Amino acid sequence: MPTDPDPVLGLMMERPLLISSIIDYAACVHGHVPVVSRDAQGRMHRYTYGDAAKRIARLAHALKTLGVRPGDRVATLAWNGHRHFELYYAVSGIGAICHTVNPRLFRDQLVHIFNHAEDRFIFADPELMPLVEDIVRDLRTIEAIVVLAEAAEMPESDRKSVLCYETLLGRQPDAIDWPEFDEKTAAALCYTSGTTGKPKGALYSHRSTVLHALSSIIGHDNRLDSTDVFMPVVPMFHVCAWGYPYACPIAGAAMVLPGPRLDGASLHELMEEERVTLAAGVPTLWYGLMEHLRQTGGSLTHLRGLVSGGAAASLALIEAIESHGVEFMHGWGLTETSPVATTNLSSTVQSGLEGDAAQRYKLRQGRPLHGVEFRLVGDDGAPVPRDGTASGEVLLRGNTVIAEYYRDEAASAAAFDADGWFRTGDIGTIDEYGCLQLTDRAKDLIKSGGEWISSIDLENAALGHSGVAAAAAIAIPHPKWGERPLLVIVPQEGESPSKEDILGFLKDRVAQWWLPDDVAHIDAMPLTATGKVSKRQLRERFRDHKLPTA
Ligand code: ADP
Repeated sequence: MPTDPDPVLGLMMERPLLISSIIDYAACVHGHVPVVSRDAQGRMHRYTYGDAAKRIARLAHALKTLGVRPGDRVATLAWNGHRHFELYYAVSGIGAICHTVNPRLFRDQLVHIFNHAEDRFIFADPELMPLVEDIVRDLRTIEAIVVLAEAAEMPESDRKSVLCYETLLGRQPDAIDWPEFDEKTAAALCYTSGTTGKPKGALYSHRSTVLHALSSIIGHDNRLDSTDVFMPVVPMFHVCAWGYPYACPIAGAAMVLPGPRLDGASLHELMEEERVTLAAGVPTLWYGLMEHLRQTGGSLTHLRGLVSGGAAASLALIEAIESHGVEFMHGWGLTETSPVATTNLSSTVQSGLEGDAAQRYKLRQGRPLHGVEFRLVGDDGAPVPRDGTASGEVLLRGNTVIAEYYRDEAASAAAFDADGWFRTGDIGTIDEYGCLQLTDRAKDLIKSGGEWISSIDLENAALGHSGVAAAAAIAIPHPKWGERPLLVIVPQEGESPSKEDILGFLKDRVAQWWLPDDVAHIDAMPLTATGKVSKRQLRERFRDHKLPTA
C-alpha cells in the first residue's frame, strides 16, 4: 500500500502574529498619522501613532512594575480614547489579557463578569469611578484601580489602591523590546452583552486578532487606507470596537476616538471638524446622526462611508445616509466571531442588479470575510439550499471564531454542532452568490400557524413610514395561530400615526398574513448595553398584552 509522502514544507521564516507587531509597524511606517480623541468634557487630545507607540512602551513597563504577569486579566472600563488604545497594546504586548468591560451592563452582570474573569486590575475613566466605587466591594480579585487621568484630575477616594494612570507612566522608558511568545496566546477578553442569557466570555488570541484585522481591512468597501480618517463610534468595550483599533494602524488610517458623547449633534460636529471619512457603529447611532441632520439641515462634507452592524439597518436609514452622498456598508458578526464575519461590499453586490433590487440588496448582511466559512442548516441540522429563499440557522467556522467560551463548559457544549461549527443563533437565507440575509435571531422568531414571520422585514417595512422613528416586532401568544406579531413603534417627534394608518401602509409591503395583529405606541425603545433594541424587555413589558384578534 503506497503511503503518502511527507509534505514538502515551504522554506520561509515563521514569525508569530503578535499584536505588538502592529504598533511597531504603525510607528515605523505610519508614525506621523494622527490619533485624535475627545474626552467626556469635550477636550481634544492629539498625537500620532509614533507618539502612541512611545506611551504604550511606557505603559508596558509600568504594568510590569505594578506586577502584571503574562496571562493576568487586566480590565478596562472606559470610552473610546487614547489611553484605552494604549491599554489594548501594552497589556497584550506583555502577554497579559486586556479585558474590556461594558459600563452599560447591569450591576449584577458587571459583578459576575469581573469575578468570573478574575481581573486583578481595573483601568477606569474618571467619570466611571462612581460605578467602580459602587461595585468594587463585591469584586473578589481586584487589587488596584487605575484612573485614566492626570494627577490633577484624580477623583477623591479613600482607597490606597486607587492609582493615577499618568503618574504610573511617569518616567518609564519610552522604548521596549516586546517579548516574543506563541501567537496562540490570549490577548483580549470580551463578554457577550447578555441579550440572550448570562454574559459569556470570548477569549481572543494574538493570532485571531491580527488575522481579523487584516481580513477586515480587505473586506471593507473601497478599502480602508492611509488616506482615511476613521472614527470607531462603536465602543472599544464592544468586541474591541470591531477590531478597528488594530486594523487602522495597519492600514495607516488616522483614528478619531469620540469619547462618551455619541448623540447626533456631537458626532456630526466631530466628523466635520476632524474631516472623518469613514465611521462604524450600530444603526441606533446612525439614526441619531440622520435625525440631527434632518432637523438642522446639516451636511457631511468629508464622510464617504458608514459601516453599520450589530443590528439590522432599515432601507429608510440606508436611503437617508445615501442622500448625503455617503456609502452604506452592512456588516454582521457576534462577540464570538471577533466580531466581523460578513460584509456587504457595494462594489460587488450590485453586479447585475438595478434600481429597487440593487437598493434592497444593501439590506443583506453580506458575504464572509476571508477565513470565515458558513453553513445554513435546518432544525434537524440538515443543509438548507443557498437559493436566497430557504432559511436556516447560520453556523460558522474559521480562524476568528471562538473554539469554546471562557470557563463555561455548559455554554460551550450548547454552542457547537457535532462537527465543531459554531451555532450563531441567527436565522437567515444565503443566495447563490453566498450573500447572507438575516431574518431573525432564533430567540426573536415569530411563528404563526407553523410558518416563520421575519421580524426584521416587518420592522424595516414599518420604518419606511415617515411617522415612525423606531419599530420592533415581537411574538404574542395566540390561541389559534400559536403566535402573532405585535408591532411596537416609537412615533417620530410631533407625529402620532394611528394603528390603521400603519397597517394600511404595511399592507402593500409585506405578505397579508404577516400584518401585525396590533400596533402599540411607546415613548422610547428599551436598549441593550450595546445600543440595540432589547426585545427581551419588550416581551416582558407586553407579556399580558391582549391581541384584538385573540
Ligand atoms: P449580544 O449577543 O449580546 O447582542 P453581540 O454584539 O455579540 O452581542 O451581538 C451579536 C448579534 O447581533 C448577532 O447574533 C445578530 O443577531 C445581531 N447582529 C449583528 N450584526 C447584525 C446585522 N448587521 N444585522 C442584523 N443583526 C445583526
